[in-house]
Amino acid sequence: MATYPEAVQEPGNSGGNFLGTTPWRIVWHTTEGNTAAGAISTFRRNNSWPHFTVDETTVYQHVDTDVASRALRNPAGGVQTNRWHAVQIELVARAASEKSRALLTNAAALARWIEQTHSIPRTWPAGWPATSPGGCHRDATIWRARGGHYGHCHVPENTHWDPGSLDMFLLMGSDAFPGDFPLPVGDTRLA
Ligand SMILES: [Zn+2]
Repeated sequence: MATYPEAVQEPGNSGGNFLGTTPWRIVWHTTEGNTAAGAISTFRRNNSWPHFTVDETTVYQHVDTDVASRALRNPAGGVQTNRWHAVQIELVARAASEKSRALLTNAAALARWIEQTHSIPRTWPAGWPATSPGGCHRDATIWRARGGHYGHCHVPENTHWDPGSLDMFLLMGSDAFPGDFPLPVGDTRLA
């Protein structure tokens, strides 16, 4: 059993057991809506549950992180998506819009718990999330081999570009910089 102590439990369907010994990773999404309640009703309707839904005040947990969730497409053949130790978080936000400080602070605390619980490195193996629909970097070799943080935009066999730009300073924690997390060109917060 792996449940985030701060979460409100709002159970959904799992995507089955994780497969093999593939590395653990966190996959970030945005709900493309305004409320957690709206997102959760969509997950229920589509049976597309993530592990967590996060808004500015609350973390909702739908699936134990010891088993898979089901927010990613996984067509036959190729790589596995949901079941390769992907812990999935849906931010109540839009890919094309700025995310609030409150939302990212809430999500950051959850991310630190997931990293610690499942030994996930605070890195972005496929780079930072795409900032436009055409900017997605999907690489099956990286996805297969490397643990860390990914956006939906990085997952092979998928087409969505969420979560869009995220303030990495807030989300990954100031102690994660610089090292693996050079700030974007023009960001002078560590200068
Ligand atoms: Zn997504």
